[in-house]
Amino acid sequence: MRIANRHGRAQLVTEKGFVDVARASDGRFSSDVSTLLSRLDDLGEWWASASDTVEREEVLDPTRDGDLGPVVASPSQIFAVGLNYHEHAREMGLPAPSTPMIFTKFASSLAGSGSPIPRVSESVDWESELVVVIGRGGRDLPLEGALGAVAGYCVGQDVSDRELQMAASPPQFSLGKSWPNFTVTGPWITTRDEIPDPQALSIRCDVSDVTFQNSSTSDMVFSVAEVVSYLSRVVELRPGDLIFTGSPEGVGQGQKPPRFLEVGDTVVTRIEGLGVLHNHVVEPFWG
Ligand code: ZN
Repeated sequence: MRIANRHGRAQLVTEKGFVDVARASDGRFSSDVSTLLSRLDDLGEWWASASDTVEREEVLDPTRDGDLGPVVASPSQIFAVGLNYHEHAREMGLPAPSTPMIFTKFASSLAGSGSPIPRVSESVDWESELVVVIGRGGRDLPLEGALGAVAGYCVGQDVSDRELQMAASPPQFSLGKSWPNFTVTGPWITTRDEIPDPQALSIRCDVSDVTFQNSSTSDMVFSVAEVVSYLSRVVELRPGDLIFTGSPEGVGQGQKPPRFLEVGDTVVTRIEGLGVLHNHVVEPFWG
């Protein structure tokens, strides 16, 4: 199944159009995506019996993906993993980490698939990432079976202000990656049953029609299962929590010379089987 947060309500994305889950199920299921994610088995069962009869709303119009909000509007936690691709560590001139390097992106920076990215400094960078969406969650999850805690996956952009990130020593990853709309997730959640191997997905980013990132999740240092298990030893993972699993090589800072985002740039991020994000770069739009 594909589950979107559209107009603030959980909606299934089908070939024939969107289905508002709460309305179509007469209130059996919540309109809140996080709540739904803890009941995915029930939802799948209902959908198997209801899919022939429920009414669809209009089909997805790719020019209107601004209707789609962040896949989870208010996750209780957002985790991100630094330097989690071998080739990306190499381009940054750093050794691959021996322990997962975890930081957060603050929730007020969440945005949906068509959102504008504000150019807040001269060093705003892109990082295309596979995002894990927690379903059942839990604590102390053994490596074997850790993926059972996962509801599904989506495409993410871990937009990064390198200037702010590097302004402190050691670097302040969390704040430098939390300007408004710097945490893009979308276009929807694809449930885990449709992605049998999260370590075999092509991941790509084009900035203004030039391909900068073109890699595979097979290059991750710590697999999705390892990251989920590792986090759960410390924190309880809850339905709707998000994990940004790191960026492959080809970020702007890794270019020679570095290439950062300019107003007017378009950023197109895609992951095999999960969809595409379209974001354009604008002047800061608040204040
Ligand atoms: Zn990142």
